Amino acid sequence: AVKATQVHKAFGDLHVLKGIDLTVMPGTVTVILGPSGSGKSTFLRLINQLETITGGEIEVDGERIGVKTRPDGQLQLLNDKEIAQQRAKLGMVFQKYNLFPHMTALENVMEAPVHVKRMGKAEARRLAVEELSRVGLADRLDYYPGQLSGGQQQRVAIARALAMKPDIMLFDEPTSALDPELVGEVLTVMRQLAADGMTMVVVTHEIGFAREVADQIVFMDGGVVVEQGGPDIIDQPKEPRFRDFLQHVL
Ligand code: ATP
Ligand code: MG
Repeated sequence: AVKATQVHKAFGDLHVLKGIDLTVMPGTVTVILGPSGSGKSTFLRLINQLETITGGEIEVDGERIGVKTRPDGQLQLLNDKEIAQQRAKLGMVFQKYNLFPHMTALENVMEAPVHVKRMGKAEARRLAVEELSRVGLADRLDYYPGQLSGGQQQRVAIARALAMKPDIMLFDEPTSALDPELVGEVLTVMRQLAADGMTMVVVTHEIGFAREVADQIVFMDGGVVVEQGGPDIIDQPKEPRFRDFLQHVL
């Protein structure tokens, strides 16, 4: 689970997140919608500790991220190893997949289990084959990224994140950089992942996916949650800003 309480983030004078409250229950899918610049990516990056929080707090699996309480009650920043342990609970998939170009699909997926988890090569290979099969790429194990379509590369990126056995997957516009005909295959993999019970937070403009797969929809604008609810709010938006946004993306 993820629990954000009054989360604030500023970059210098620019106040990007202004008090975000959000709970993501285990095994559910939350879709975050919102216009460009509303703070969606910043929020995901805070959950994954790629940015430091300015105010408020975030819990992942019941544990506050970034800080711990000392015996004397004072808060203390976590060290790099402790932060790495917390980040290991999260898998993240970006718009740009950033695969290693000189490694095959299989090697890309094996990389973190071998070098971060110190898993043996044989076991890592078995795991990578399993995760690549799960995303429909069992027949592309030995292909290099340059030999794969954008949709296939993004599916390798998903397999790479899954190979670290995260509790929660964060997706930041995973289909935005893809040609339209390749979007479907990535959404199909994500739909399957949701059906398998993965806890997911997905930033996307794919309204059809949101309506069909999300348990919870969150519409952000100007660094605040403007409207939030079940998938039905897509068809019955209450807030004018959400209504306008939907008219533009649909
Ligand atoms: P998009 O839909 O375009 O991806 P977004 O909702 O993901 O937008 P963010 O990327 O979170 O928006 O950015 C929110 C605001 O924070 C923007 O004004 C952006 O310029 C600013 N911002 C993001 N990262 C930084 C940074 N590292 N330094 C300064 N400003 C930043
Ligand atoms: Mg973004």
